[in-house]
This record gives sequence, structure tokens and C-alpha cells, in this order.
Amino acid sequence: MAPGRRTSRQMQAAADTAVAAPDAAASPRRARNSRARMMRQYDLVERVRAYNPNTNEDLLNRAYVYAMVAHGEQTRASGDPYFSHPLEVAAILTDLKLDDATIVAALLHDTIEDTEATRTEIDQVFGHEIGALVEGLTKLKRLELVSREAKQAENLRKLLLAIADDVRVLLIKLADRLHNMRTLEFVPQASRRRVAEETLDIYAPLAARMGMQDMREELEDLSFRELDPEAHSVITQRLDALTEKSRNLIGEIETQLFENLKKHGIWAEVKGRRKRPFSIWTKMERKSVGFEQLSDIFGFRIIVTSLEACYRALGIVHTTWPVVPGRFKDYISTPKQNDYRSIHSTVIGPGNQRVELQIRTADMDRIAEFGIAAHAFYKEGGVSPTERLKHESNAFAWLRQTIGVLSESSNPEEFLEHTKLELFHDQVFCFTPKGKLIALPRKANVIDFAYAVHTDVGNSAVGCKINGKFAPLSSELENGDEVEVMTSSAQVAPPSAWETLAITGKARAAIRRATRAAVRDQYAGLGRRIVDRLFTRAKVEYADDKLKGALPRLARSSIEDVMAAVGRGEIKASDVARAMYPDYKEERVGRKRIGSKVKVAPSDVAAKSSVAIPISGANSELPVKFAPNGGAVPGDRIVGIVTPGEGITIYPITSPALKEFEDMPERWLDVRWDVDEATPQRFPARLMIQNVNEPGSLAQVAGVIAENDGNIDNISMRRRSPDFTELTIDLEVYDLKHLSAIIAQLRAKAVVAQVERVNG
Ligand code: MN
Repeated sequence: MAPGRRTSRQMQAAADTAVAAPDAAASPRRARNSRARMMRQYDLVERVRAYNPNTNEDLLNRAYVYAMVAHGEQTRASGDPYFSHPLEVAAILTDLKLDDATIVAALLHDTIEDTEATRTEIDQVFGHEIGALVEGLTKLKRLELVSREAKQAENLRKLLLAIADDVRVLLIKLADRLHNMRTLEFVPQASRRRVAEETLDIYAPLAARMGMQDMREELEDLSFRELDPEAHSVITQRLDALTEKSRNLIGEIETQLFENLKKHGIWAEVKGRRKRPFSIWTKMERKSVGFEQLSDIFGFRIIVTSLEACYRALGIVHTTWPVVPGRFKDYISTPKQNDYRSIHSTVIGPGNQRVELQIRTADMDRIAEFGIAAHAFYKEGGVSPTERLKHESNAFAWLRQTIGVLSESSNPEEFLEHTKLELFHDQVFCFTPKGKLIALPRKANVIDFAYAVHTDVGNSAVGCKINGKFAPLSSELENGDEVEVMTSSAQVAPPSAWETLAITGKARAAIRRATRAAVRDQYAGLGRRIVDRLFTRAKVEYADDKLKGALPRLARSSIEDVMAAVGRGEIKASDVARAMYPDYKEERVGRKRIGSKVKVAPSDVAAKSSVAIPISGANSELPVKFAPNGGAVPGDRIVGIVTPGEGITIYPITSPALKEFEDMPERWLDVRWDVDEATPQRFPARLMIQNVNEPGSLAQVAGVIAENDGNIDNISMRRRSPDFTELTIDLEVYDLKHLSAIIAQLRAKAVVAQVERVNG
């Protein structure tokens, strides 16, 4: 027998005794940081009796002793006696004011798995109901022990199926997880992260789905602290500082709200509370605002005595202080699917503070805090609590229904994907024309629907009908909608803007994948054009095979890779040439010195002849280059700026960069173009283009430039918004007329929102 375990005979005997020696539970081995004092048998009974005068004390006592003896000398990672864990789990459930069976099952929840206790024995000692609960938890624990990412889906599924029988299994499981999260610091580093992730992915959303607000928030915060300790501590520190600073303010707002309502004949309990770090963090991420900009860090609850009083209180608050628009929500007339009911509003309250308000009755408040745990779990008129809850609780009815739908899905990964991301949000159920049910999170649109049907359907979706009527793909879906998605093989990839329209993880990931591939293809095409150009000009032979041999030198794995890298500007075309022909020499330009004339070759690639620019009154032996940010082309009025030791830089006279040289007249040179029309040359210019984000748009821009005999030297892209990308294109043109023609053609393209020449 393993040390620390007792025989079942001993346990039964102990359970019969029912009262433990006063200090039997306290271990001499105290943990670093654990509770100073373990809860005693008497404390637990007192806690239960406080909300349930009819509690079966004898049952509680027997369970306490049984579990304590069963776990014997076992210890937790913290060094605490193991028994402290089921005891704390039971205590958490007393906070939720749960029934005796739940508290007893919590005390016993680890006995079958970790001690000599058996289901049969627990049935004998505590009855079948409690036996079934403990067995449910044992199954879950066994699942957890083998749990790794691959198994997670299946575990979750079994978890849901187990709680479908008796939701109290879930309540105990959540309390169990909460206590494990509270004591996570004692767990080896390696498994902490996994536990925290699982908590954030599965248990916190489940708590939310069951309407258990406090449970959810604490689980989220504890996970957050583990997963991002730095962010957690920064937010906590600043919250503390703010709380300190506004200590009086909270009390003052409470008082003002209370007095004002009382004056109008409404008796209310007003409670101010600060939000949790995790909810502040997600808000900061969602709205991408800094901590300083988050004004509503405190929330106030107004608890009144009747439903009617909720609306009267709202009226009083709204006539006393200015209302912040867009923040009013009435979850009383339209409860959330987890049974949450409350009125939300935000006003500019006392002290010019934004005050977030929740107005509700005491009953609603209980549901808001405890969710499904607020329901009574006793048998009534032969009807089991599970049966009754189906009618009393939307959250539970929903859970049963969803479990039903999801237990039919065959692929565990698919199940997990749906479940993790979506099960715990409110859902809409829609149908394909053939009647297949597609469950989506609320606020999902047709794009999400299309990807839920199949990735290919999503990628090629071009239009849709909802209930037989044409509708935009961005239409939000409602329960019962029948959705027909029209597809087109002409659409190779979805518009990238869909990524922000879609709300399901599946659709977003698929869109990202598809657009990434499309963008990469565009860059590869662009890169190939740049490389072709260089090889043609340099009169060097290009062959794919030759490049293939040079791949290791470029540290790229394929020709496509090389071309895309050139297109993105990560490597230069001349690097490609050098990799293929080690003695290839890039001709330097803009550094030729010829007699008294400065000759200018515009590009970094060799030009056969160069353009002479007569320069009046200056040392003509200087190298010449063009304005680095925007260049200059014939037709521009230009000026030269001398930089000692470097040479002359040619700027268009309109260039803002010239401001810098305003008080240095000695550096200004009069220059003018002297272009030989018989031997046209190219000159650098830069365009800034606002491009609509969609696959193929870059190709269209590059196409216009190429068709018009422009030459692209470089492109950089910057996403300005979900809808637009800013392209900065360095190109070479013959003259201003040529450049203007290209700009006009670009402006004619639907994907181009704006074109500006950059005059650096
Ligand atoms: Mn446990």
C-alpha cells in the first residue's frame, strides 16, 4: 500500500466516528506561502449552516472525516496536507451557497482517484447521488492526467457530456480548478503554463457561459498572471495607484448615487468596484488604447428591490447626470443567454468622472454573480434538479442543447476549434440550403458561415442569398437563417479585408492563409520582373537552373522564395546576379566625372549613356545624385545642393527638403536639364499610393507601371487600416510627362484610392 493511504476499513471507521480530533487536519509541515490555518470541520459546517439552516450536519461531518482519513499523510506540492485541497474546494462552493450533496462531493472529489476509496463504498456511506457526483469528477480527473493538446478535444467533450448529466459536476470541477489556480505557484514551472492556458481556454469561458461572473473573473486573472506576469503586474500596480488616488471619489460617487435615489423614493444598495486586471487588459487590447485612456476602471452596481425600481432608478440617474451615448443596454427585457439580467449605462457623474452603472434587483444580482449556481439543486416532487433546471435556466438548457449538437461532430479537432472559440459565446444556428445546421457565434456573418461550410467555399465566395434574398457577405446572421453562398472560381483568394470582417477563428485563419499566399505570389511576380530587368540591362543570361544552383548562396529554399524576397526588397536583384555569377559587377552610377559637365546616370543599374546637366559657376568635378526621397525628372525645375566631400544632389525646386539649406546660399547651384531626346534616359521618382487591400491590387499597380514602360526599383508597403495599404514605389521614368501619364493611369484603377508624387 502506498504510504499515506489508509485502508477502507479505517476510513469507514473514521467516518462513523464523524468528529475528528480538533487538530488532526493540521500538518506540522507548513508550506512557504499557504494558508496560515486550515479550515476546521466546525468552520465548514458553520459556513453551510449560515445559508442553509436545514443542512445535514452529520453528513458533512462524516464526509469531512472520511476524506481527511482517506488522504491521510498525502501532501500537496505546497507541502500542505492534501486534505486541505478538497476542503478549500468545498469552501469555495459554500461561497456559492450550494447544497449539501455538492459540498460533500467536493470533500470527496479526489478520494476515488487518489485513495483506497471506491465508488461502491461511497455509495454505501453517502448514498448514490453523491457517489455519482464523485465518480463524474473522478472520470474528469483521469482525463486530465492523460491530457495533452491532442487529447484536449476529447477531454472537453467528455467534460461536457459528464456535466450534461448533473451540472453540479461542473460546479465542483470549476471550484477544483479555481483552487488549483490559486495554488499554481507551487506547481512545477513546466506544467503551469499549460494549466493556465487550459483554464483561460476552457474553464473560464465555461464559467462565463454558466453565468458565474466572479468565478470567471478570478480564473481569468489567475491565468493572466501566469501567462503574462509582466502585463499583469503593470496593470495591477497602476490600478492600485488609481484606487489610492480615487479612494474618496468612489465613496463620494456611491453616496451621491444613493442619496439621489433616496431623494426620489428609491432605496438602493450602491456598490463601487474596480475592474479586474484581465478585463482591463482585454479592453486595452481590443480598443488598442493605453491605460491612461481607459476611463471606466470602476463600475458601480445599484441594487434595488423591484423590477420597476430598476427603470425608475435609471430614469433618475439619466436626468441627474449627462448620459454617455451608445452605452445603454437593457439586459432585463432581453436577458443574455446565460440568464444575466441588468441594465447597463454610463453617465458623466460626480466629479466629472465617467461612471459605469449596472442597475438590477437583488435576485438578478444573485444570478449575475452565481449564475447557474444560484439555482436550487434539490429534488422536488420527484423531479431531479437536472430536469427542473432545464426549464429554469437558459444557460443550462443552452448547454444541453449545444452538447447535443456538438456531440454529433465526429472530428475531435474540429470539435475543439468550435468549442474553444465559440461554444461559450452566444450562438446563432443557421442552415445551408440542404438543411445542414451550421452553429456560429452570435454576430457572425456570411463570411464566417461560408468558411464554416468549407474553406474552399469561403475562399471563393462572391455573393450570397439569405432566406432567398440577395445580401452582402458581411450581413450579420440571425437564428434560423437559411444561407446560400455563391462562389466563383475566378476568385483565387479572398479579399484580405475579410480578415477583419470575419469573427470566427476558423474564417480568420483561413483568410490569412489564403491572402498570405496570394500576396507572396504577387511579390514573386514583381521580383521576377525586377530581376529580368537587371539581367536584360546588364546583358547577363538568366536561367532558372542557374539560379537554382545559387540558392544556398542566397540562403533561400526556392526560386519563388528568391523572387518574393526581391519583390519585398529584402534582397537586391544585383545580389541575385552576384550569387549566380560571382564576378558580376554592379556598375556604380551618379559618380561619373566628365570634363566640365556633370553627367548623371539615374539608376543604380548601369546606363549606357548619361545625361549632361550644365552647371553654372561651380566645380564641375563633383559626383551628382538625385534627391534621396523622391528623385527628380526632366520637366521638374531643379536646383543642385553641394555637399562638401560628397557632391551635388539634384532636387526639384518644390522639394520641402530644400528648407534645410535655406540659410546656406553658398551651397545652392543653378542647374538645368539637358536631355538628349535621341537617347532617352530614365530618372528616379517616387510615388505614394493608397491601395485598397485586396489580392491582386499590388499586381494591378505594378502592371500599370510596367505597361507604361515605367521601371520599378523598389516597393515598400505599409498597412494603414484594415482597408488600405500605403505603397511607396520608387520608379524610373523618362520625364515629367511620362510620370504624369503613369499617375493618371493609376488613378483610373479601382483599387487605387489615391496617388501622390513624393517630393522629398
Ligand atoms: Mn482536486
